[in-house]
Amino acid sequence: MRDKELYAAILGIRSPWQVASVELAAKEEEVRVLIEMQAGARLRCPECDETCPGYDTRRRSWRHLDTCQFKTILVADVPRLECPSHGVRQIDVPWAEPGSGFTALMEALVIDWLKEASIKAVARLMDLKWDQVDGIMQRAVRRGLARRKALQPQRIGIDETSYQKRHEYVTVVTDLDSGEVAWVADDRRKESLQGFFDELEPADLLRLEAVCMDMWDPYIAVVEENLHQAERKICFDKFHVAKHLGDAVDKVRRVEQREQISEGDRSLVGTRYAWLKNPEHMDRSSRSFFERLKSVALRTARAWAIKEHAMCLWNYTTRGWARKAWRSWIAWAQRSRLEPVRRVARMVRDHLEGILNAIVLGATNAGAESVNAKIQRVKRMACGFRNRERFRNAIYFHCGGLDLRPATHTNS
Ligand SMILES: [Zn+2]
Repeated sequence: MRDKELYAAILGIRSPWQVASVELAAKEEEVRVLIEMQAGARLRCPECDETCPGYDTRRRSWRHLDTCQFKTILVADVPRLECPSHGVRQIDVPWAEPGSGFTALMEALVIDWLKEASIKAVARLMDLKWDQVDGIMQRAVRRGLARRKALQPQRIGIDETSYQKRHEYVTVVTDLDSGEVAWVADDRRKESLQGFFDELEPADLLRLEAVCMDMWDPYIAVVEENLHQAERKICFDKFHVAKHLGDAVDKVRRVEQREQISEGDRSLVGTRYAWLKNPEHMDRSSRSFFERLKSVALRTARAWAIKEHAMCLWNYTTRGWARKAWRSWIAWAQRSRLEPVRRVARMVRDHLEGILNAIVLGATNAGAESVNAKIQRVKRMACGFRNRERFRNAIYFHCGGLDLRPATHTNS
C-alpha cells in the first residue's frame, strides 16, 4: 500500500475527496496530508443541498490525531460555491465540523480526555493551547444540548452551587430519575429558575409531579407560578432540612465554646464535625468520646438531640401522622431556648406542608446530591472557574448526560 492510499484508508477519505500527497517535515516533526477534491465533482450548498457552480477555493488545515510522535495536519483547498439562494458558501468537509480547526476524530479524542482531566492537563498532554481545548469543550456542549430530546422530567431537584468564591452561585436543576443535570443558570434568583420552566411544554409541566428543593423563597415563587397544584408538588427534602439543623447545632456550639474558653475550658474546640456525624456511623471510641462531649456541652447536646429527632421523622409514610409528629417536634424545638434551633423550627413550621409532601411522595434530593458531589469534583479538577459561563459549561459537559461526539462520516 502506498502512503497516499494508506492515509486515505486511515482517514476514511472517500470520493469525491482523495489524498493528493503526504509529506513528512522531519524537522518540524509533522506529517502533512494534502487532500483534494476530484475534478468535476459536484458542489452542494451546505444550506439547501442544491448543486451550485464553484466560486473559488480557500486553503484550510486541520489538526488530526498524531502519526506516532508526529503531529499530523490535513490540508485542503476547500471550494466555495455560489448558491442562488444562499450566496457564496464554503462546502462542508466530511472529516471535520464546520468552523473547526480539528478533525472530528481529534475532537473526539480531546473530549474523551476531558472527561478524565482538566483543560490545562489535556492542553499540555496533547500540545494544544488552553483556548483550543476550551473551544472543543464548548462546541461539544452546544452540540449535545442541540441534540438533546425535549426535557420531560417527572421529578426534579433544584439546588444552588457556588462556583468559586463563596456567595456566587449557579442554579442547577437535576432530573432525579436519570440523575442528569437538565438545566444550569446563573445566580439563584427567580429568573435563574424561570428559564428552566420556559423550556417545558404545557404537557411536560403536567407530568412534573415532585420538585425537591431548599426552603428558598425565589425558587418557591417560580414553582408556584409555573406549576398547577404546586402546593402538593413542592418538596422540602431531608437533606436540606438536615443542613439547616446542622448549621443551627454549630451556631449553638460556637457560642457555648466561646463561653467555656473564657472559663479556661477548651473541650469543645475542634469538635464541629463530631456533632455532624451520624451516630450510626461512629465506631466505639468516637462514640464514647462523643458521649463525654455531650456531658460537658449541655446546650450543644440539646440542639443535637433536637436535630437527630427530626431526622427520624422522615420515616413516616402518611401525611396525618407525619404532620402530628412534626408539630410536636416544632413545639419542642421552640421551647428549647436555643435561638438558632428556634429559627429553624419557625422555618419548618412555615414550610411544613412541603416537608410532608417530601415524606408522602418519598421525594429525596439524594440524586441531586450525588450530582452536586460530582460538580465539586469537577471544580477541584479545574482548580476553580474564571467565570460562571465556564462553570456552567463544565457542569453540562460532565453531568448533563449529553451526546458530545462530533458528527462526521465516521460515526453518523
Ligand atoms: Zn443554498
